[in-house]
Amino acid sequence: VTLVEKTNTRKTLWRLNKQDSSSSARTGTLQTLHYTLETPAFMPVATGGSVKALTPEDLIHCGVEIIVANTYHLYLRPGHKIIERLGGLHKFMNWNRTILTDSGGFQAYSMVEFRKITENGITFRSLINGSEHILTPELAMEIQNSLGSDIAMILDECLPYPATMEETARSMELTLLWAKRCKSAHRGENQALFGIVQGGMFKNLRRECTEQMLKIGFDGYAIGGLSVGEERDLMLEIAEYTAGMLPPSSIRYLMGVGKPEEIVDCVSFGIDLFDCVIPTRNARNGSLYTWSGVIHIKNAKYSEDESPIDYQCRCYTCQNFSRAYLRHLWINHEPLSFRLNTIHNVFFYQELLAEIRKSIENNNFEEFRRNFKNTYGGEE
Ligand SMILES: [Zn+2]
Repeated sequence: VTLVEKTNTRKTLWRLNKQDSSSSARTGTLQTLHYTLETPAFMPVATGGSVKALTPEDLIHCGVEIIVANTYHLYLRPGHKIIERLGGLHKFMNWNRTILTDSGGFQAYSMVEFRKITENGITFRSLINGSEHILTPELAMEIQNSLGSDIAMILDECLPYPATMEETARSMELTLLWAKRCKSAHRGENQALFGIVQGGMFKNLRRECTEQMLKIGFDGYAIGGLSVGEERDLMLEIAEYTAGMLPPSSIRYLMGVGKPEEIVDCVSFGIDLFDCVIPTRNARNGSLYTWSGVIHIKNAKYSEDESPIDYQCRCYTCQNFSRAYLRHLWINHEPLSFRLNTIHNVFFYQELLAEIRKSIENNNFEEFRRNFKNTYGGEE
């Protein structure tokens, strides 16, 4: 593979608006082809081309401005060429705001039994029909280009936790090699490309990977390989360390994080973008977010509770339905339970990020963080 260095001619993708004076928290504006939004922002996960149970109108009601779609799922079904012929993913799913696509590496790695990783790419068998595929850096770029997402991610290798320093170093070298091949293969002036910093739980490797990624040069930088089973304190330590090495002028995306209290901490490290399946997955499990913590709607104590999930919440679900009704829907496996619960949790996450942005703009983020920690009690 010949590596051709490309000059980035795209206009600035992200710009800093306000830097907090007492932490690394900041607000910024992310400009993409389809939509412009303020950061820090949270991206709900639209695995197979939908945020489960929600319509695009629901997402807009919740204040969602950017979503993540999974390359692996859309590549296997219906296929990226079909989506391209149908006008791209935005048109296919009728979503006119920003879409970020992952590279498919994480799913190809984690969701299949038969896989092999070589320098060339990830060989795996489809869960749908057993067919064999090789996800190369070039194919990861081709798929994301066909989907027409606003932001594409490089193919990286995801290591299980724990891993030795030797394994982690070898894996990081592979990610760096793939990063160069992704940059060479990436096309489309309208699509940004983000690099991903790996290096596991080793600070020396995180430093080396950051330096090499910056040398290759991307439109933004993600921190990958965290929230893979390590202790929360270790995740926070590595996230803070890595974020601190990324240039203040670049957008920083922490992949796969997280719970509300983790997001609040990671914003203080200067993280601008988050994604996680937990608000949507928990909604379907009946775990609902409130400003004082998570409640489990199946609990018998809610069977005659006429209050909304959260009095402070202005979402469609809280404006119209009681905890008693939501418990009834959940107990009876009514499909409406998925929709109403998901609307609330997605709305809650968007409100949390909006409050964070507001507090940074008003220069009282640390106060917001302290108050949040005092009132938010985690799980009931
Ligand atoms: Zn609500």
